[in-house]
Amino acid sequence: MQLLNALVLCMVYVVLAGLAVGLVYHRTLSHRALRLAPWFERTLVTLGLPAGTPVQWAGNHRRHHAHTDQEEDPHSPRHGFWHAHNGWYISQTHWVPCLAYALAGPLRTLFDGWHRPRSNQESVHLAPDVAADPYYRFVSRPGPYLAFAVAHVAGFYGAAWALGGTAGLIMLMATQILVYNLGDAIDSAAHLIGDRPFAVTHLATNHPWVAFLTFGEGWHANHHSFPRSPRTDIFRGQVDVIWWEIRLLALLGIASELHKAPSATDVRARLKDSVKDSPAHVPAR
Ligand SMILES: [Zn+2]
Ligand SMILES: [Zn+2]
Repeated sequence: MQLLNALVLCMVYVVLAGLAVGLVYHRTLSHRALRLAPWFERTLVTLGLPAGTPVQWAGNHRRHHAHTDQEEDPHSPRHGFWHAHNGWYISQTHWVPCLAYALAGPLRTLFDGWHRPRSNQESVHLAPDVAADPYYRFVSRPGPYLAFAVAHVAGFYGAAWALGGTAGLIMLMATQILVYNLGDAIDSAAHLIGDRPFAVTHLATNHPWVAFLTFGEGWHANHHSFPRSPRTDIFRGQVDVIWWEIRLLALLGIASELHKAPSATDVRARLKDSVKDSPAHVPAR
């Protein structure tokens, strides 16, 4: 029973991370693809703070879209897999420190609590709308950010210990390592491996496994072609769980002002000639 409770906690952690980073940091704050009720948005940003401060996350991500896989992209795999995966956070390209960082779980959260507000600040000017929110400005400051990082580790690992003892701690640590690396895989694997159906010069791909494990974020080629769309599924067979969540939140009155998703005509106009007649690239709507 103890292990079952710890397993439920780990599943809740994965779902909350997907909502906090995929829905709120990414689609809402960085792309303004929709609007969320402020209480809901702020609660999820608070839970998702280990991803980085909301101001720097949105600024870096906007730079990534403006210069995808060019010199000014903060995390392109053109500068190496490990640089794109997580080395760009810690100014490393060698695989040894990057692998250690990738596997550090709660130690990474605590290290980032100190380090993140002091690094990767080059693009914060690209997110003035996020910085205009006093709460996001407050949690992006070094002191509060560190306090939230410590509280995140103490709260979730305390719950894991209470629910499952040592096994609960190990399960949550494995879950957290998975969550960190799935987020990082969108910047590395989903710019290296997979399908590139659009006529573009950057490297973003549709990566089914990353998409499955990140609730739809891995349809990254689709996203780079239509970044303001609140949904990333475009072709038959693709599933975007975050889009289902957005629809549910819209029904509940929590999500609103959804930006328009691309039509089949919009999609066809952007496809590479070589895939225009391929059955795998028929827009689902
Ligand atoms: Zn990308
Ligand atoms: Zn994006």
